[in-house]
Amino acid sequence: MESALTARDRVGVQDFVLLENFTSEAAFIENLRRRFRENLIYTYIGPVLVSVNPYRDLQIYSRQHMERYRGVSFYEVPPHLFAVADTVYRALRTERRDQAVMISGESGAGKTEATKRLLQFYAETCPAPERGGAVRDRLLQSNPVLEAFGNAKTLRNDNSSRFGKYMDVQFDFKGAPVGGHILSYLLEKSRVVHQNHGERNFHIFYQLLEGGEEETLRRLGLERNPQSYLYLVKGQCAKVSSINDKSDWKVVRKALMVINFTEDEVEDLLSIVASVLHLGNIHFAANEESNAQVTTENQLKYLTRLLGVDGSTLREALTHRKIIAKGEELLSPLNLEQAAYARDALAKAVYSRTFTWLVGKINRSLASKDADSPSWRSTTVLGLLDIYGFEVFQHNSFEQFCINYCNEKLQQLFIELTLKSEQEEYEAEGIAWEPVQYFNNKIICDLVEEKFKGIISILDEECLRPGEATDLTFLEKLEDTVKHHPHFLTHKLADQRTRKSLGRGEFRLLHYAGEVTYSVTGFLDKNNDLLFRNLKETMCSSDNPIMSQCFDRSELSDKKRPETVATQFKMSLLQLVEILQSKEPAYIRCIKPNDAKQPGRFDEVLIRHQVKYLGLMENLRVRRAGFAYRRKYEAFLQRYKSLCPETWPTWAGRPQDGVAVLVRHLGYKPEEYKMGRTKIFIRFPKTLFATEDALEV
Ligand code: ATP
Ligand code: MG
Repeated sequence: MESALTARDRVGVQDFVLLENFTSEAAFIENLRRRFRENLIYTYIGPVLVSVNPYRDLQIYSRQHMERYRGVSFYEVPPHLFAVADTVYRALRTERRDQAVMISGESGAGKTEATKRLLQFYAETCPAPERGGAVRDRLLQSNPVLEAFGNAKTLRNDNSSRFGKYMDVQFDFKGAPVGGHILSYLLEKSRVVHQNHGERNFHIFYQLLEGGEEETLRRLGLERNPQSYLYLVKGQCAKVSSINDKSDWKVVRKALMVINFTEDEVEDLLSIVASVLHLGNIHFAANEESNAQVTTENQLKYLTRLLGVDGSTLREALTHRKIIAKGEELLSPLNLEQAAYARDALAKAVYSRTFTWLVGKINRSLASKDADSPSWRSTTVLGLLDIYGFEVFQHNSFEQFCINYCNEKLQQLFIELTLKSEQEEYEAEGIAWEPVQYFNNKIICDLVEEKFKGIISILDEECLRPGEATDLTFLEKLEDTVKHHPHFLTHKLADQRTRKSLGRGEFRLLHYAGEVTYSVTGFLDKNNDLLFRNLKETMCSSDNPIMSQCFDRSELSDKKRPETVATQFKMSLLQLVEILQSKEPAYIRCIKPNDAKQPGRFDEVLIRHQVKYLGLMENLRVRRAGFAYRRKYEAFLQRYKSLCPETWPTWAGRPQDGVAVLVRHLGYKPEEYKMGRTKIFIRFPKTLFATEDALEV
């Protein structure tokens, strides 16, 4: 039989550390290409799994595949997601240490699919809990619900997650899943009111219109045709060939039941979904004084009913702004533009708060029933992180700034944890640690998040000066404060050569993964995320039980200024990093092979970008800094003992001594390997390949 190692000319090496020329990006990509051609979408960098989206069903996730990877050693079987799944699970069981699987990659690379396969693996292969077996179903069924509300068709991915997600699965001492918890990050709520050409709003709207029962739609005052709703027509693509909204609706409807929704709650939830659509169809006309007036009475009527608010209050709130000055309330009429802004802000707030509520609701249904019992303390946790990768578009704004900041943080954690675990292994094996040179991106994280001097602080400061500050004054302040930073540049600060490529309203950050130019337009507005006071008041009075949980009177108090979007995001990231730091990490790096969502196409330029943004070459360098290959003595001896008369057919002594005899017989030079406490470390792949080739003769 052809061994995986000797077939390397055809199918490449299954671990990048075995590449002879490990610093060459070309060699790296060639290896990916060879494997992709053979439908081998998985390759390791040591313990890190690199995955290339095949865009076709490879039939590699069946129950048989799960069984094949259970209980076997990582390196004895071809690389696979399930190998990671099983390794992580076993570590959790045997070492009783919390684990975190971090899945990254750009939009369409396969993060969410990988997360779902992992969950499925655990749901199918782990023992069932003694009680509360429903948790397994709930863990699985939380997905279609969150995807309906948080995913959308974009140009890059027909099922793109528009939020980041971290999910904990709790296991009891027998290794059965008994609970879970989800944290969500930064839902892209601008999509509720606007979609780019060729993109859609969140799936749930189309699902409801396509699949909702006649009676439901009548109650909600909805028509089936998405074209009737302004919030659904912007992208001009209500129908997507890969999506069946009608059958998805059924799946979501069932899933809601599994995660403990009562019929009433479903009705309340759908009322909110419908009210967002009605809001989008609210029109205004200007009166003689240029003040906005609502002209769509029918929509207003449905809104009033669905949200359970007073009609005239809502009408007033949509067309006026309440200002409190010197203890007095003033109502100032809005012009057309302001009224449209207020309406859209309300739609976004209603939708995104409902999403947050939904996550809370799912969490309550996933909460372990044993939380108060003593056995709770013996649970271990396995975390799954499915979060947006680095984004670089033609036009980059506040959203990309946040997302790329998030990636800087995760990269920092990655470097820290990888180096730490390498160092720990060397120490445990009694091998001298050889320091590795690497780029520490802490300097960029600081640039963004530092108190007083960081970009977020400066942005927040400008947000405190309403009426005076603009996006451009923010940029000026940035220029003043961080002008000497080596990772920051603006038009004014750039030299003649680079100035051409930088506009006046832009700043550029030199991220670990490369340069990104951000346009400051909209930064203040998006960071403030303002909802006029009287709209808030109106929503606080809502009879819809979900709405009344989403809007709380306490936010009306003047004393409490809500945190800005960037600061909230920063704090949630710090919390995430803390959670991840306390766990043993595993990494899955996903790559998208082409922009056409097609199987078999390997677009080299696109892939090279991702290899860079994912920091894979740096990862490989760190991993290869010392030794390319390491294996337990038992495993090494077992595989190669036939190559030496003294170890064949059996070696009676300690495996370590057997390996020593074996490698001496094979002529390994002292600089080529080291003997650790439990493992042999081999410095160069060629040594291993020569040994491997000898097996074939
Ligand atoms: P986003 O950041 O936009 O959410 P993502 O990384 O989560 O992107 P996925 O939604 O997981 O991307 O994958 C996009 C599509 O690619 C899937 O809908 C599926 O069609 C295909 N795909 C991904 N991974 C696989 C796989 N392992 N096998 C077959 N098809 C896959
Ligand atoms: Mg996704």
